[in-house]
Amino acid sequence: MDKGKFYRKIPKVDVLLGKDEISELLKSYGREAVTEAIRIETESLRTLIEESNDEGVIENALSSITSMIKKRVESAFSANMVSVINATGTILHTNLGRAPISKEHGAKLLDMISGYSNLEYSLEKGQRGERYSHFESLLCSLTGAEAAMAVNNNASAVLLVLSSLANGGEVIVSRGELVEIGGKFRVPDVMEQSGATLVEVGTTNKTHLSDYREAFSEETKAVLKVHTSNYRIIGFTQTVAIDELSEVAKERNVPLIEDIGSGVLVDLSQYGISYEPTVQDSIKAGADVVCFSGDKLLGGPQAGIIVGKKEYIEKMKKNQLTRALRIDKFTAAALELTLLEYLNPDKLSENIPVLRMIKEDASSVKKRAFSLKRALKGYDINAEIGVEPCESQIGGGALPLERIESFALTVVPKRLSIFDTEDALRRAKKPVIGRVSEDKIFFDMRCVESSDIKIMAEVLGEIL
Ligand SMILES: *Cc1c(COP(=O)(O)O)cnc(C)c1O
Repeated sequence: MDKGKFYRKIPKVDVLLGKDEISELLKSYGREAVTEAIRIETESLRTLIEESNDEGVIENALSSITSMIKKRVESAFSANMVSVINATGTILHTNLGRAPISKEHGAKLLDMISGYSNLEYSLEKGQRGERYSHFESLLCSLTGAEAAMAVNNNASAVLLVLSSLANGGEVIVSRGELVEIGGKFRVPDVMEQSGATLVEVGTTNKTHLSDYREAFSEETKAVLKVHTSNYRIIGFTQTVAIDELSEVAKERNVPLIEDIGSGVLVDLSQYGISYEPTVQDSIKAGADVVCFSGDKLLGGPQAGIIVGKKEYIEKMKKNQLTRALRIDKFTAAALELTLLEYLNPDKLSENIPVLRMIKEDASSVKKRAFSLKRALKGYDINAEIGVEPCESQIGGGALPLERIESFALTVVPKRLSIFDTEDALRRAKKPVIGRVSEDKIFFDMRCVESSDIKIMAEVLGEIL
């Protein structure tokens, strides 16, 4: 085979740059990216000619060089982070970004972040303001606390609280509450980072008030209670409630801190799941400082919210760490919008997507499963398609035992393996993430919006 003939057919860079399609690319993406793509694609043509003995394959590659260059440039400029369809049935899926923000809030945020805002400017006084001012009084009225602020996430909130209140001293924690949260948040490690010394009391399953009492020393600077959000110890157990701990902390004149995990502000049993301790319960029971996540059950943006006594919050606001851990304008705006929804508890399940998804009846989820099934009728499908009951979960390290009855579209692919089908679904223009069980792919429809059904059918239809 005369390879020289093929090598000579590789177009020169100037020739390629002269083509209409390529000059279009130059206009949008610039010379550097386009010439780099040309270099890589012509190089891979050379390799192909060298290694292949199939003239058809080589001819094909030669004739598609322009489209290959176009593809390469476009893909280099397209974002790697994209929106996906969460058909896993896990509502607060940490890998998929935890709590989604509503479309209405999204639209308001867009306006806020694409222009200027009064982030740190008091429109009333015409001078410098505080970024927490937009939601501090709201948080206080919702939780009953005296003061509030927010940082990057709850992990940083715990770090800031301990570093501000207990640096150089001891902090008493129950052995049953030495939690590890996904993504390597470990209470003992955060404690060390903050400069405080952990004093463990009690045992894994039982801690008594007397254990705390006996652990106090001259060095004690705080008592910390951590909500075991992502695991449950059941059976022969005992923990000490906040109100009892609060008395002891008061006697000793040290702050009682609670890391409550999820920021629940309403009684979740009205949404059909177990009661989770609320922030206001904790404040009422005597916690001096409470911190929690913004993007777990609160249903807002990623943030670590801290509420409590003014003297302690003031100390935190003055800590240098706060400057490093502070929230950005996007978060400040999203947090205020989320908290405003809590002023009307009756509408929460409509306006906060996480609460809406928790509350939705299985029968109504089932309707979406059937609409997807109907939408798939328009495609030539090589798979067994069904609608079956399944169970959704909360996720995000919250309410680990809770299961919510739900419905899924189930797929047993015929042409592709389950593995290849899932792989193709992940690479789709709108990736769809399901869950495999009993040799079927389950697409739990709880977290799939009606508006996504058409595109989901398109993706599934093309792959199957
Ligand atoms: C989730 C959680 C954290 C970590 O919160 P992030 O917002 O993910 O940083 C810390 N403590 C508890 C008890 C939690 O449940």
